[in-house]
Amino acid sequence: MNDHIIALDQGTTSSRAIVFNSKGTPVTIAQYPFPQIYPKPGWVEHDPKVILDTQLRSLAAAFEKSGLSPTDIAGIGITNQRETTIVWDKNTGEPVYNAIVWQCRRTASICDELIAEGLGDYVTEKTGLLIDAYFSGTKIKWILDNVPGVRERAERGELLFGTVDCWIIWNLTGGAAHVSDYSNCSRTMIFDIDKLQWDEKLCERLGIPMSMLPTPVPSSMVYGHIAKGLPGLEMLEGTPVCGSAGDQPAALFGQGCIHPGQAKNTYGTGCFTLMNTGSKSVRSTSGLVTSVAWSVNGELTYALEGSVFNAGSSIQWLRDELKIIDSASEVEALATSVPDNGGVYLVSAFTGLGAPRWDMYARGAIVGLTRGSTRAHIGRAALEGIAYQVKDLLDAMDNDVDSGLSVLRVDGGASVNNFLMQFQSDVLQKPIDRPVMVETTAFGAAFLAGLAVGVWKDVSEIVTLRVSDKVFTPQMSAEEAAVLHGTWLRAAERACKWEVKDIQE
Ligand code: ADP
Repeated sequence: MNDHIIALDQGTTSSRAIVFNSKGTPVTIAQYPFPQIYPKPGWVEHDPKVILDTQLRSLAAAFEKSGLSPTDIAGIGITNQRETTIVWDKNTGEPVYNAIVWQCRRTASICDELIAEGLGDYVTEKTGLLIDAYFSGTKIKWILDNVPGVRERAERGELLFGTVDCWIIWNLTGGAAHVSDYSNCSRTMIFDIDKLQWDEKLCERLGIPMSMLPTPVPSSMVYGHIAKGLPGLEMLEGTPVCGSAGDQPAALFGQGCIHPGQAKNTYGTGCFTLMNTGSKSVRSTSGLVTSVAWSVNGELTYALEGSVFNAGSSIQWLRDELKIIDSASEVEALATSVPDNGGVYLVSAFTGLGAPRWDMYARGAIVGLTRGSTRAHIGRAALEGIAYQVKDLLDAMDNDVDSGLSVLRVDGGASVNNFLMQFQSDVLQKPIDRPVMVETTAFGAAFLAGLAVGVWKDVSEIVTLRVSDKVFTPQMSAEEAAVLHGTWLRAAERACKWEVKDIQE
């Protein structure tokens, strides 16, 4: 039949594989979690071999469970935790150090130096990013500077760098393809998102030999084929590896946001809002970042992106620290047990606030408490606080591109919360559209792969495969929404610039 695609979804806490049929329906899923390594406060690492092992095992398991034959599998697509940095020996395949994970703050002081040198505008102009320890560039520098012998080996051309997509593709293809798709390259802080090539000046400043860098490639093309001798994958030898995009752009694609002005928000531990800006790489004036979202059939699509650092995590906090709920799903009944928030606002600035405020010194706050405030008001305020932060991101996007956003597409663990979705629609005064199939990230990667090998003919077909589960429309008047949001802005202001010492060091 040759019309199934397997998507590899390499996340921060687990590696998953999902077999999709040509209708975009998941057939089987396999998932293996793996350990987080915290060598010091603020440092986060993964073992690259464990990432690979769990990913290959999940691929083998999802395929086996499906009962399909190897000829049913047209190709493999990959989506991944972005920015996480791996350096390995190109002859032995041995990593020289653990993967430095996107969350890791160890390079904050390198970033401070770059900012002090006045490189900020150059970085934004070339890479679309802000200087921050999230992105791969300073992580590569750290490995080269701190792991004995590594700089010399890199300069001799013996080492390769890659984000997780690149590491997996290199291994799947037996070292034949050292490539990274433009969306992943866009998150390194050394990639020129307009010229689609590595930026020599930034590589030189960070001391990164360009021989280590993967070849930047489109998101949908045959990069190579599954190599001989991979454990458990003998049956799939020769299957094309043919699609790749970072997790957030893959979700934007998987949500069918293929036209400029369309946007999605993922409600997970944090929130990630991405808006398709078409062939234009917009530079934000509101602290958002710009990346290549995908490149298919020679057409490049850019996205504007903002994130809320703590969203679902504030619900975990209600559960684990305040202990006012036993499970995340209970928060909906708690929130709807009161008719309104009773004037209580919760700002989940546990680790500072991202766009549009970019205040690393902000801290969480609950304001507006009265003697009559109850746990229900606090639960409700936590959910409302998520929705307000997403509105602030979309307002910032509107400010940058005048998007005329007509509907927000949603996914992620907390998008099952109907109260949150209704309130989001109310404060945005726009419809919220939740799909039936919430594996949008994996599906985006599968679709990119399927396009390269003819399972799907055209990008526009993805729209026909997406089915809405529920559309929430505004039930609140625009006036009331504006008053509530105005009060939220005052509450968020109270949380800003709270911490007095530098938390990044
Ligand atoms: P991630 O991919 O970031 O791990 P998920 O997409 O799996 O996150 O979503 C999990 C998050 O969603 C958790 O932070 C959890 O608190 C939150 N969550 C799960 N169910 C609900 C719910 N019914 N209402 C609100 N938040 C929820």
